[in-house]
Amino acid sequence: MERPSVIRKTAVDLRVPPRWSDYEGERRAFSWDLARRALQGLPQGGLNMGFEAVDRHANSELRAHCALRFVARNLPAVELSYGELARQTNRFANVLQTLGVGKGDRMFVLAGRIPELYVAVLGALKNGTVVTPLFSAFGPEPIATRVKLGSAQLLVTTEALYQRKVKAVRGQIPTLRHVLLVGEGGASTHEPDTLDLQRLMAAASDEFTTVDTLADDPALLHFTSGTTGTPKGALHVHGAVVTHSATGRYALDLHPEDRYWCTADPGWVTGTSYGIIAPLLHGVTSLIDREEFDAERWYALLEQERISVWYTAPTAIRMLMKAGLEPLQRHSYPALRFVASVGEPLNPQAVWWGKEALGLPIHDNWWQTETGGIMIANTPAFDIKPGSMGRPLPGIDAYIVQHLEAEGEPPRVRIVEQPDVEGELALRAGWPSMFRGYLNNEARYQRCFSSGLYLTGDLARIDTDGYFWFVGRADDVIKSAGHLIGPFEVESVLMEHPAVAEAGVIGKPDAIVGEVVKAFVSLKDGFAADEALRMDILAHARKRLGAAVAPKEIAFLPVLPRTRSGKIMRRLLKARELGLPEGDTSTLEAGA
Ligand code: AMP
Repeated sequence: MERPSVIRKTAVDLRVPPRWSDYEGERRAFSWDLARRALQGLPQGGLNMGFEAVDRHANSELRAHCALRFVARNLPAVELSYGELARQTNRFANVLQTLGVGKGDRMFVLAGRIPELYVAVLGALKNGTVVTPLFSAFGPEPIATRVKLGSAQLLVTTEALYQRKVKAVRGQIPTLRHVLLVGEGGASTHEPDTLDLQRLMAAASDEFTTVDTLADDPALLHFTSGTTGTPKGALHVHGAVVTHSATGRYALDLHPEDRYWCTADPGWVTGTSYGIIAPLLHGVTSLIDREEFDAERWYALLEQERISVWYTAPTAIRMLMKAGLEPLQRHSYPALRFVASVGEPLNPQAVWWGKEALGLPIHDNWWQTETGGIMIANTPAFDIKPGSMGRPLPGIDAYIVQHLEAEGEPPRVRIVEQPDVEGELALRAGWPSMFRGYLNNEARYQRCFSSGLYLTGDLARIDTDGYFWFVGRADDVIKSAGHLIGPFEVESVLMEHPAVAEAGVIGKPDAIVGEVVKAFVSLKDGFAADEALRMDILAHARKRLGAAVAPKEIAFLPVLPRTRSGKIMRRLLKARELGLPEGDTSTLEAGA
């Protein structure tokens, strides 16, 4: 079917008057100082993310209002009001104090989407403790790498995850002083060298005064993947809460009466910024589904939970499209009024699917771990061009730049003034949720900036109307089901297998999940490239990395293409896999 290139906003798309409608006017009037004034601040003049998200409302008429509602397939729903969340996070902050974990110390959380995770994250923020939520589907290797890099003093996890993924590697993490366990079904645990979270919480006071953090004090540490080396820890400050608040309004159009559902896991930055912090800042009721994707269940939740604002991901939307209209039409969605998505390119068909099947277009938006919050978005304030990620939000200036030299250090770039020219997406540095460093890697951090611009590592273009279009990544990092995967981390684990001589990993395009991880390996002498070995290497990778990160496919090659300086040429592997031109192979080692 021929569809127009613009979806014009109609009254049906905006069932409730949006919180803004004048894009240019709002951009002109906006300042981060004004945005800061929507928050309360601490009595001594500081700013604290946990206080703004929870206590500000617990001391208001929202005290009894449901803040978080947890649902699971075989468990009764659990609700925490803003008042109860304040009390529980106070208890948790007191637990940290008792254990001598304070401001600036680091805490990791490894758990499914259980209430204890949310309480721990918010309680730690109130205590000034720097928090890292880890993805619970990671295998032991990515977990140990990150906890070690982050020099965590304390880990909160469940008994089951501890036994499966942490116990064996705990000895490798000397900084880890305390492990707090949530028992099965909230019951007590008796693992040696661990503490029982439930017991500690019961003994702690539910009164706590938020530690006096300043806007520039560290709050969150999120790991992200690069092309080479270990994952990078992006440090975020309490002041990021100003971006979370502004974008909750501009990109998600949150109203206090909303029932909101963010489907992302807090182990990824979206699940923290927009699965925990931003909705609470706006005083909404946030649904947290503890189960994994299931089309029938999701449609039932949208209906039964009367979700009004839904923030999800392109892979999920494509899986819903694949499930067909029948499960969708078994329900109705009169409450739903705004749908947004992030994490990977959202194809125009998916935007139209929203419009045609749900009656609402999907608002794609763009950001990344380093930006801490949504930067470019389709919003209620303007029409949608399906396939475009939208326009920069108030307070954000975005550009396309070109590098003046290939490998300059520091990089030198020029802003491209003409429309429709591809280049690297760059943002004027200085918005409140901009990351403030890569942990222990100042040089890498500095390389992200040039002439006051933050260079995102994404390629994009701007059209004549100022809409941004994603083109691709400038590096070899893989995006699978919205998760950023570093090829080096996967290659390193493959190399541990006794049969593997060398490994190269690429993202292979996939219609549903965007890219799947595909590995190419060459074998050591004496090993036969057969199916049994392939399965054995796959199983090894899955066990060490977890299913979300491990390769889905492994191909054997006699030798991998390398540059003369010894680097595996992933781009060439990808070009060969896809039957594309091989590009410049002048640096290719002879014989590869
Ligand atoms: P992460 O840091 O894991 O959140 O991943 C950020 C990366 O995801 C970005 O740098 C982009 O490459 C990709 N990404 C995020 N949002 C979009 C979008 N709307 N369209 C295309 N790619 C996106």
